[in-house]
Amino acid sequence: MIARVLVCMLLSGCLCQAAQARDYRYSDAHLHYVDFFQETEGMSALIEAMDQAGVEHSMISGIPVAKKWHEDEPKRPRYYAGDDADAYWYSATDTYVAAALEKLPAEQRKRFHPFLTGFNPVDKNAVSHIERMLELNPGLWQGIGEVFTRHDDLTALTSGDTPRANNEAMTRIYHLAAERDMPVLLHSNITSKRERNPLYLAEIEEPLRNHPHTRFIWAHAGSSAEIHRHQTRMDFLLSVLTRLLADYPNLYVDLSWSVLEPYLLDEQGVPRKEWLALVERYPDRFMLGSDVVGRFGSLGEQLHSFGPFLDALPEEVANKVAQGNFLAVLPRQPK
Ligand SMILES: [Zn+2]
Repeated sequence: MIARVLVCMLLSGCLCQAAQARDYRYSDAHLHYVDFFQETEGMSALIEAMDQAGVEHSMISGIPVAKKWHEDEPKRPRYYAGDDADAYWYSATDTYVAAALEKLPAEQRKRFHPFLTGFNPVDKNAVSHIERMLELNPGLWQGIGEVFTRHDDLTALTSGDTPRANNEAMTRIYHLAAERDMPVLLHSNITSKRERNPLYLAEIEEPLRNHPHTRFIWAHAGSSAEIHRHQTRMDFLLSVLTRLLADYPNLYVDLSWSVLEPYLLDEQGVPRKEWLALVERYPDRFMLGSDVVGRFGSLGEQLHSFGPFLDALPEEVANKVAQGNFLAVLPRQPK
């Protein structure tokens, strides 16, 4: 009898929880339509994945570099880090995104928010290229990025000089972004694989300070899985981020994958209180991204893995992080 009562209580408890579970609608703030070889599963696969995952809106960009299958490499690489061959700046990536979007009916088209990415961020002429692209497809582009600056081994593998977020070419681009009211999604690792200090912090902080009218989305909050492979968790990330958010109202943070673990969730998958508190203190500044590249099967899994963290936030804040904040960072009136 007692056992039956207990089972009943457990069941009703579960049902009650299920009824209260929040049904998030998502915006994906970080998605690549193609991979490092400029290949894609295609638009119908992407839309199907979005529908299944509850993703109503998505940022969409290409990949600004193409990984070479070098003459000397016996096997076709599967990822940029797969062998020693370099990657080179590849502008056609934006035309693939534009062409894919132009084929869509208006209903689907408005779910996508395309960002321009195919330029060389160490070339001071890059800004002119961007202006030409904006003219070529009037009204299409809503942001700039993902810009690859400090990006694990890709930095060393990319042909030419190392891009910095605070170089002259990027400075010109930030001015243009402010003029056109476009956000910039910036990948700029906070440190190298082995340095246990914010070695490259100045590279992101300088533009934040010098371009108060440019909205910056910092990809993965400057972290990366590759950094964690060498130094598990950066103990300075939370304090640096806390200071930057207070000092620079133009900073927005993409929480995608390498932030979820090991920062937002602990080893047991429990949300960390100090990160919850930070998001609650700045409820408009955080967004989610899948960072999928050209294949979309894991889109739902990526975004839904934030569930435990979102559930631990007040509902209004959770919905902003899941969907609203990304939409709010876009140009106020897409031209
Ligand atoms: Zn990315």
